[in-house]
Amino acid sequence: MAMLEIKDLQVYYGVIQAIKGISFEVNQGEVIALIGANGAGKTTILHTITGLVPAKEGSIMFEGKDLLKTPAHTIVALGMAHVPEGRRIFADLTVYDNLKLGAYTRSDKKEIAETLEKVFERFPRLKERRNQIAGTLSGGEQQMLAMGRALMSHPKIILMDEPSMGLSPLFVTEIFNIIKEISASGTTVLLVEQNAKKALAIANRAYVLETGNIVLAGDAKVLMDDDSVKKAYLGE
Ligand code: ATP
Repeated sequence: MAMLEIKDLQVYYGVIQAIKGISFEVNQGEVIALIGANGAGKTTILHTITGLVPAKEGSIMFEGKDLLKTPAHTIVALGMAHVPEGRRIFADLTVYDNLKLGAYTRSDKKEIAETLEKVFERFPRLKERRNQIAGTLSGGEQQMLAMGRALMSHPKIILMDEPSMGLSPLFVTEIFNIIKEISASGTTVLLVEQNAKKALAIANRAYVLETGNIVLAGDAKVLMDDDSVKKAYLGE
């Protein structure tokens, strides 16, 4: 059984259909990329999975549990963390307080402290800046903080929305290296990206989205060599 299984999903904003009946799955340990142009529906899919946007039809099963029947505020406790588009860190709080808030579903202080140590190991920059006000971090540092905050919930799967958006090339490379490390440490990753080249380079499999439909799916390495993907998404 797949860890996350989306079937025949349809999502509307008013009368506009943003997701037109898509199905896909994420297996434990995989890095899955959802790629596609602006407005294809990538963010909508993540928001529907995490309960921020309601589905009209279909099902979303996470480890056998129907997420469409699960209140949004309880989904983090099931082991699913979301790193939203535009980071959405708490700008007025310190780095440390942002990270602590990421663990709000957990109660064991010792385990939380251990996770914090691991997050600081993965993001030494956040450790150095633990008392800095988060809103004064650079864009790349804020992305690291958003990822670190998500990891504080000790997720089984992490959903990331456009982590490379607005970052300098150096930071983009660093962020993708960190995603690889997160995956290597055993966390499953569902990655939404407009940077198809970078996303396909680290993904096991990918789905290509166009105006609410999945138009292509397969092994990331195979998609990288696909002529239509190259033309439309890899700028070749
Ligand atoms: P981007 O990379 O620009 O975020 P995306 O692939 O994530 O694009 P979505 O943000 O999911 O795409 O948008 C899918 C479609 O749904 C678009 O046509 C968008 O205009 C529409 N849409 C998104 N959010 C809303 C909303 N709150 N109300 C109405 N329409 C919306």
